[in-house]
Amino acid sequence: MAHAHDVADGFEVNGAETMIEVETIELTDEKAKLILKNTNNAFVNSLRRIMLSEVPTMAIDEVNIYDNTSVLFDEQIALRLALIPLKTDMESYSIPGECSCGGEGCTQCQVSLVLNAEGPKVVYSEDLISTDQKIVPADQKIPIIELKDGQKLFLEAIARPGLGRDHAKWQAGIACGYKNMPRITITNCDQCNACVEECAPDILKPEGGTIVVTDPLRCTLCRLCEDVCEVDAIKVEEDERTILFNFETDGSYTARELLLQSANILQRKVRTLRERLQTLQ
Ligand code: SF4
Ligand code: SF4
Ligand SMILES: [Zn+2]
Repeated sequence: MAHAHDVADGFEVNGAETMIEVETIELTDEKAKLILKNTNNAFVNSLRRIMLSEVPTMAIDEVNIYDNTSVLFDEQIALRLALIPLKTDMESYSIPGECSCGGEGCTQCQVSLVLNAEGPKVVYSEDLISTDQKIVPADQKIPIIELKDGQKLFLEAIARPGLGRDHAKWQAGIACGYKNMPRITITNCDQCNACVEECAPDILKPEGGTIVVTDPLRCTLCRLCEDVCEVDAIKVEEDERTILFNFETDGSYTARELLLQSANILQRKVRTLRERLQTLQ
C-alpha cells in the first residue's frame, strides 16, 4: 500500500489559504483510491461528474461493413465495436463539432480501424488494425465474435472523440464514488463486543481492554455499532473536509491522466466563469 503526500491545488476559504492535500492509497493504470484533505463533497463531486461526462475519449462511432457472413447482424457487431475502449490522445484530435473541418470528418477528428477476419477464429479487439498506433483498443483481448469455418467479417470502423454526457461509449471514468472519511472514537468501552459482531466489514477488534479500528477506510458509515452499544461508548462521525475518492478508467486514459484531465476541465470552467463575472457591471 503506497502512501504519498503532495499538494494538488490551492483555494481561498474565508480569506485563509487552504491547500488540498492528496494522499494516495492506491494508484495503478486502471484505478485510484485517494484521500483528499481540506476539501468538501461538492468539490469532489464536481471532479467525479466531469470524469463521467466531460473528459473526451475516442470510441467507434460509425462502421462500414463490406462483408459479414457471421451469425450476428451488422448492427449487433457495430454495437459491440462501439463499446470497446480505445486509448485516447486528445493532443492530436478534436471533437468533430469543434474541428476545423466543421464536423465533416478529417484526420484531426477521426481514425479508421480495419478488421478483416476469416473463420475458424475468435475475433478479438486486437484484430482491429488502426491507422494511428496511439488510438488502439485499450485491451487487446476483448472478444468480438466467433467465426466458424468459412465465415468472414470485413469492415472499417471510424473512431471519433466524444463526451460521456452524449453516449456511454465515450465515458472514461467508471465506478467513480466518494465518501467522507469515517472518524470512529471509542471511550469507556465495557468490552461487551456487541459492535464487533455487528460490523459487516469486520474492522472492529477487541484489544487491550477496548476496541480498536483496524481499517477505518473500510467503514461504510452504517452506524450499526452505535445502535448496539448500550453504553454509548462508540461514536461514528464523518469528516466533512476529508474525502475518500475512488475511481476506475475504461482504459482510454490511465487513472492519473483521467484525474488530471478532469482537474484541467474543472479549472477551465472556473476560469471562464470568473472571466464572465468580471465583465458584469
Ligand atoms: S459504522 Fe458500520 S462499518 Fe463503520 S465501524 Fe460501525 S458497524 Fe462497522
Ligand atoms: S458495543 Fe460499545 S461497549 Fe460493547 S465493545 Fe463495542 S464499544 Fe465497547
Ligand atoms: Zn475534422
